[in-house]
This record gives sequence, C-alpha cells and structure tokens, in this order.
Amino acid sequence: MLKVTRNMVLPTTITGSYPKPNWYTQGLHGRPFKVALGDSLFREQYLDAVATIINEQAMAGLDIVTDGDARFDLAVGGKSWFFYVLERLGGLSGRRDLSPGWSGDFWIRPGHILWEVQEAYQPPVVVDKVTRGPLEYTSIWKAAQRMTEKPVKFGTISAQCLVRMMWNQSYPSDKELILDLCDVMNEELRELAQAGCPLIQIEEPRHHFVALREETTDKDLQFFTEAFNREVKGVEAEIWVHTCWGNPSQQRLFWEPPSYERALPYLLELDTDVITFECASSGGKDLPLFRKYQTKKKIAIGVVSHTNTVIEPPEVVANVIRKALEDIPPERLILSTDCGFGREGLSRRIAFYKCIALVQGANLIRRELKLPEAPIRAADPRLAFGQVPGTPGAA
Ligand SMILES: [Zn+2]
Repeated sequence: MLKVTRNMVLPTTITGSYPKPNWYTQGLHGRPFKVALGDSLFREQYLDAVATIINEQAMAGLDIVTDGDARFDLAVGGKSWFFYVLERLGGLSGRRDLSPGWSGDFWIRPGHILWEVQEAYQPPVVVDKVTRGPLEYTSIWKAAQRMTEKPVKFGTISAQCLVRMMWNQSYPSDKELILDLCDVMNEELRELAQAGCPLIQIEEPRHHFVALREETTDKDLQFFTEAFNREVKGVEAEIWVHTCWGNPSQQRLFWEPPSYERALPYLLELDTDVITFECASSGGKDLPLFRKYQTKKKIAIGVVSHTNTVIEPPEVVANVIRKALEDIPPERLILSTDCGFGREGLSRRIAFYKCIALVQGANLIRRELKLPEAPIRAADPRLAFGQVPGTPGAA
C-alpha cells in the first residue's frame, strides 16, 4: 500500500547502492550483521559510512534516501548483491566453479569484463530445502532509519533473481526452488514491514530479461509474476519493484538498452505500488508505452545513468522528465536513477554529483509546474567557497 509517496508529487530518490567511502575497509565477510556490530572497528566504519551516505543524499536534496547497501562486501562485480543472502541461507553448501564458462550467457568471452565477473561469482550448491538465515534486514533498516527523519528505502534482490546464482541439486526444477525461496524471503520482508520499514524495494524480477528470448512462453512470464506476488504477499509496506538492464561492474548487459514492451503487461500485474524503469540510458524511448498499457501504479523512472561517468546536465534530466509527463501525471511519477551506483564501479564523488544533478533537473520541472523546489545545500551559492558569478555580493 502507498505509505511514503502517497501525497508526494515528483519525489526523488536513488535505486540503492552507493560507492563505499575509501576508508570503509571492513566488511561482514559472512558474519551476521549484529555479530559484526560487536567488532568495534566494523561497527564504527559501518555506522559512519551509513551516516555519510545518508548525509550526502540529504545535501543533494533527495526526498527518499537509502543506506547505500552498505552491508555488502567490496566484491568483484557487485557480487554481494547476491551473496549477502546466499552466504546466510540454510540448505546451501559448497560451490560450483563457473570459471570454465557459463553456458547461460554464451556471448560472454574471455577479454570481456563480464567474463571476470562470472569467474568471481562461484554459486553455492543447493543441497537441501532452503531455509531462513540471519539476514537481519530489520536491524539493518533500523540502524539507518535512526540517522534521519527522511524515509529510508530498504532494497533487496528478488527470490527469482537470486536463484540464477544457485546451483540447484536438490529441487526437481528451478520453479520449485523459486517458490520455496519466495516463502523464505516473504517471512523476512513481513518482519521488516512489521518493524516499521515504510518502503521496501524488491529488485530485478526476471520478466524483462527472459521476455527478450524467443523461447520464453507467456506461461513462463506468468509464473514469474505469480512467484513475485507470493514473495510480497501480506508485506505491509509500500512496495516498489526495481527493473534495469544490468549492473555488474556498472555494466549494462546490452550496448543499446532493449525494450520493455513484451514484459510490460506482466510487470504491471505485480502486487507493487511502484515500478521502476531504466530510462536515462535510453532517453526514455519506452515511455510512450504507457499510452498503450494503462496502470494506476506509480512509475519511477531513471533520469541519471549508473553506467556513464559523465554527470548529466540538469536540463538533460529535465528533458527525460518532460517526456515522461506526456503520458504519466506528476502525481504518479517518481524520479530515480537507472540502477544503483555500485560499490567499486563509479567513484563516490561521481555518485554524489549525479544525485545533485537529479534534484536540480527535478527542480527545473517543479518550477515549471509551480511545485515547491527542494533545497540543495550542496549547490547553494551562499555556502560555496569564494564568490559565485551572478549571485548577490559577487563582483
Ligand atoms: Zn538495477
């Protein structure tokens, strides 16, 4: 149900992850979160990093913040997005060495950065029924939420995406494994919502990727919708679903962003309040689809890219928003990033300035629509060193 964004018009946020500060050298490395907080060096670095990441988002004027996924270890290709969960679930043991190559992504060859990512992934083997482990999402969200009055969005990988990184030797097929894992994650998410987390984002259902393959049937797409809805059933929070075209090592999996069209009707059937779409990288080419496929859900669009290091000028951000407003009313439009900023792929400084550009672009549109603009302390000339040309007091 809508909670956080119910009365917000054009709110701004980021997808989730934020580059690690250089001094944040500790990591969980498989430990449960609350156990690691008993290690004074980890505790100080983790809590200071989350405070820093939230403060940078506040300086940029974002309305909804995240903890930057600071629980994730610094691992090759954002591996922790999968492995934070995999290292803690029951029913998994050992690993399958994917170094010889992964037939699922046949186009990846040595010499491609994703080959190295694939070498690093090493999926665990499913040897028994999957069971809950110490994910401790509730404590992780609380640790961040007590640092700010702004709502903290908590994001997690979807069960159906997580199964891509498991070597199934226990279930008759991946479908049974996905359904069991949906139940495991559902318990964790219900607990998180009951503890007061107002906004939960489930990341990467499989629809938009599998819909690109000819052999995918409508029944397959329907299955992923049913699985997703099982995962979020009874979770009493505002639910977002995040979709993008990939982010291992800040890489989109396609040079040209594909179209969401075949997946869109199925994505719109997900039991979520908000759906996010990658739009900055494509210039919003799929946005006119919302003329054809009607929905009452709120739509979050990416207006800055996670795969391009050049900071988008505010006018470029505003142009994507204007395009979206042709088919989505401002009350139903949310402004975000195409995907997370990662931990090692972009620098923290670039991520910070992308946050600022996002809000500056949003403010251009808010001004046109006579909506209140968000203060951006990081861009306030009165707080800049020296005299800023064209401002009061400047020579
Ligand atoms: Zn993403």
